[in-house]
Amino acid sequence: MKIHEYQAKEILRKYNVPVPGGEMATTLEEADTAAKALFAAGNTVVVVKAQIHAGGRGKGGGVKVAKSLDDANTASKAILGMQLITHQTGPTGQKVQRLLIEEGSLIDRELYLGLVLDRASAKVVFMASQSGGMEIEEVAHATPDLIYKEYVDPVVGLQPWQARSLAFKLGLTTAQINPAVSFMMGLYKAFIETDSTLMEINPFITTKDGKLMALDCKINFDDNAMFRHKDLKELRDLAEEDPLEVEASKFALNYIKLDGNIACMVNGAGLAMATMDIIEYAGGKAANFLDVGGGANQEQIENAFGILLSDPNVKAIFINIFGGILRVDVLATAVVAAARKLNVQLPIILRLEGTNVEEGRKILAESGLKFEVGTTMKEAADLAVKAAA
Ligand code: GDP
Ligand code: MN
Repeated sequence: MKIHEYQAKEILRKYNVPVPGGEMATTLEEADTAAKALFAAGNTVVVVKAQIHAGGRGKGGGVKVAKSLDDANTASKAILGMQLITHQTGPTGQKVQRLLIEEGSLIDRELYLGLVLDRASAKVVFMASQSGGMEIEEVAHATPDLIYKEYVDPVVGLQPWQARSLAFKLGLTTAQINPAVSFMMGLYKAFIETDSTLMEINPFITTKDGKLMALDCKINFDDNAMFRHKDLKELRDLAEEDPLEVEASKFALNYIKLDGNIACMVNGAGLAMATMDIIEYAGGKAANFLDVGGGANQEQIENAFGILLSDPNVKAIFINIFGGILRVDVLATAVVAAARKLNVQLPIILRLEGTNVEEGRKILAESGLKFEVGTTMKEAADLAVKAAA
């Protein structure tokens, strides 16, 4: 689960990690009030920042530094409601519906800090680099040696000597070392206690007067741990997510929209991945990933159909089921009922195996509806690709 920068900064604040003061705004009036308050409090610079669930906002025109209230309001007007395109949003971009109006900082150096779950070592890796700012992806790609790493033993957690070692590699001044260690220890504590999978501070700045601050913050949480964080769950912003994925999550369907034209309905994540592969192998492109789960009932199959059909790109539906807990005859009955109820006009191709498969095939054949059935996965994939063409 992703959250906005202003929400991530709220979390850091609770862990005593220094962040600039600021207010979230959803309207130009709120943005004006927030900017006025910051200038009245003595700030000479205010920053207006687009809040979307994607990075690269600076380069896309979503971050503007303002030296007067007029400038700040002009920036808010330009950014709020804009379709912000960055290297992470895809070509259509993301509509900006929230702003962060923040105290400006006098930046001396832009550094980088990042924590991520490293699956290969089964540890959290703490990364630091002197080359923070808007080119960090390029640095990681071209000069990975400039990113320093400390692997954290999960039993004892991040040790102060590890943080100190990173702080020295960042080339900080003697006076900045201890604050940097507290900063990193705070980040690690926040990462662990919120069940994060990713936490990035880019840039992690030093200011002209020698202070350290998180100027940007990105946090991703582990969805599987959200059941024990009711407060964090509330930070979810549905407006940032694909509407079909939001709809699917209401029915506990694992659905991810893709850009092909063959809709897939599969039970089990492994089989769903294999189905996407075999569609690709047969020369087609999957419109989605969908795992209806092992124990899907008729209602869930209807919901799944409804979601698949609301994607206008879909030209054929490929149902690939291995009936284990979900019996094939039960599935077939549900598919027939759903296809009738929703008046599905698109070609439906099935590949069925498992418990009661013969009865299932009979139900489909006797339904009077036009289903195509492949005997193997490859044959069914070929039929689906042909039907979608
Ligand atoms: P991102 O592009 O989505 O990662 O957005 P960031 O929050 O990292 O902002 C992008 C860039 O804007 C930073 O790398 C800074 O160079 C600049 N920036 C952000 N806040 C300030 C500020 O308070 N003062 C100044 N001078 N620059 C800022
Ligand atoms: Mn950034």
